[in-house]
Amino acid sequence: MSRFTGKVALVTGSSNGIGRATAILFAQEGAKVTITGRNAQRLEETKQEILKSGIPEDHVLTVICDLSSEHGQEELINSTIKKFGRLDILVNNAGASFVDSQGRSGIDQDVLNYDKIMQINMRSVVTLTQKAKKYLIESKGEIVNVSSVAAGPQAHPDMMYYGMSKAALDSFTRSLAIDLIQHGVRVNSVSPGGVSTGFGDAMGLPVGGFDNLWHYMESHKSCLPCGKIAQPDDIAHIILFLADRKLSSYIIGQSIVADGGSTLVMGVHAHDMMKIMTF
Ligand code: NDP
Repeated sequence: MSRFTGKVALVTGSSNGIGRATAILFAQEGAKVTITGRNAQRLEETKQEILKSGIPEDHVLTVICDLSSEHGQEELINSTIKKFGRLDILVNNAGASFVDSQGRSGIDQDVLNYDKIMQINMRSVVTLTQKAKKYLIESKGEIVNVSSVAAGPQAHPDMMYYGMSKAALDSFTRSLAIDLIQHGVRVNSVSPGGVSTGFGDAMGLPVGGFDNLWHYMESHKSCLPCGKIAQPDDIAHIILFLADRKLSSYIIGQSIVADGGSTLVMGVHAHDMMKIMTF
């Protein structure tokens, strides 16, 4: 028996990146999984990856939906319950940022971007959680939110609205954790630093734009002390840890930072401070 045998996990944003890796790991560890996103072809790729591990097809439910639509969310929850009869784990992973159509930064960025970012990164998390709550209480389940080190305390003027959305998500995680623990439901989150996924392409950057940033970070220890950008699996393992009650039962309302050390350094720390101070 694997550690998630008998459990049902719903992973949003599982057509790509961190969500895909998480859904695959859950399935490999025995869970039945609902995978979801808007892109049917990429969802099928996730499904095929799961089946390649020898997992029976009836352990996977694919739901194509736009999470910013409440109707889509209802279908997502209802079809999960209809097929699997329960819901034990909700991973609120789907998320996005968008570049300003006219290349503006800081406070000049289009407020419509603010609306779109808050819609997917925050509002849809609230409404999907509302719809899942009853089933998670029945199963005494787990919620894992996917935040970001962009939440702060550092400033991110180029991705101001994205950072704000993730800061709001962190606050939501803490309050929701206290709200739901009285019903036996645990809520936690993970805050990744840079991860090699489809995020940059979805954001509207030139193809390979994020790869350039990752290479730059990897070659500057002031940006990334560990020298290696994360892969989706690095984050997926943490999500499974937070969803595994045997391993993490006493962690409530916390976010685990997984960023290769990037938020621990200020520029000066990457240089030889002793040398500078002693000439
Ligand atoms: P990807 O772009 O690779 O994956 C994002 C997923 O979200 C896709 O499956 C996409 O599915 C889904 N999604 C986006 N918008 C919608 C929508 N409106 N309705 C339904 N699904 C949607 O990015 P990541 O894997 O990197 O992102 C996953 C999470 O990790 C996000 O919350 C992100 O903020 C966070 N994160 C990422 C970091 C990184 O460096 N990559 C760093 C820190 C946090 P589809 O396109 O099929 O709709």
